[in-house]
Amino acid sequence: MALPLPTSLSPSKVSSFKDCALAFRLSAIDRLPEPPSPHAAKGTLVHRALELLMWEEDGAGRTIDAALDKLARAVPEILDGPEYAGLPLDAAERAEFVADAEVLIRNYFALEDPRTVRVLGTELRLSVEIGTLRLSGIIDRLELDAAGDLVITDYKTGRAPSVHFEQSRLGGVHFYAFLCEQVLGRRPARIQLLHLREPLAISSVPSDQSIRGLRQQTLAVWAAVEQACAREDFRPKPGWACGYCAFHEYCPAVGGNLDRLPAGAG
Ligand code: SF4
Repeated sequence: MALPLPTSLSPSKVSSFKDCALAFRLSAIDRLPEPPSPHAAKGTLVHRALELLMWEEDGAGRTIDAALDKLARAVPEILDGPEYAGLPLDAAERAEFVADAEVLIRNYFALEDPRTVRVLGTELRLSVEIGTLRLSGIIDRLELDAAGDLVITDYKTGRAPSVHFEQSRLGGVHFYAFLCEQVLGRRPARIQLLHLREPLAISSVPSDQSIRGLRQQTLAVWAAVEQACAREDFRPKPGWACGYCAFHEYCPAVGGNLDRLPAGAG
């Protein structure tokens, strides 16, 4: 019996399918619950603080002190909110977690001067349909540059990729450029990744070629997902992702068994 298709593809789902088709299936199709991840929680916390900084302060007010105030406000909102309240952090671990988020906020100021950012939107949800595929994604920040052209910014709170992975990570940002062009009718003049850990900025200019390549790659992944659903054939691909995977219980590559899937999954 065929498995149902996922409702949409996003950059993270495309990466997830490429990293391990079985993990993709268990998350995107079977929708098995996954425990809250400290890494994701820190990303959400820092994104929220920077979002508050952009919206609540005018140019001159976007200082490090203001950003740290926003971070302090965001801490209970995110860490005690419904998504991450289950994170197993004792008081000392929580203080260490927040201190590290503070480092990332301070590093942000080494990458750009927020007083110059002409922000149009943050955490923008965009989606578009291409044939049977719905593409969706959330743009961290959309702004205007000095020439009045659109710029997409993506904040990264994990380690910057090695040169080997840099282009594949930029592929995710080209995905947002494609979405932006489809939904808003304008191609961004530039897309940038701000890696807050190093800190390191990586920038790229979308072109006809990059947009066409992104579209072809995404449609190829979608065709592979459709085929895997039709054949009910999502294979495990053991690798670095196993260390972060919540599905060992069901994965035959690490001693689990798909027969343990709860009734109704898939
Ligand atoms: S444990 Fe590894 S191989 Fe198995 S589903 Fe997870 S990521 Fe894939």
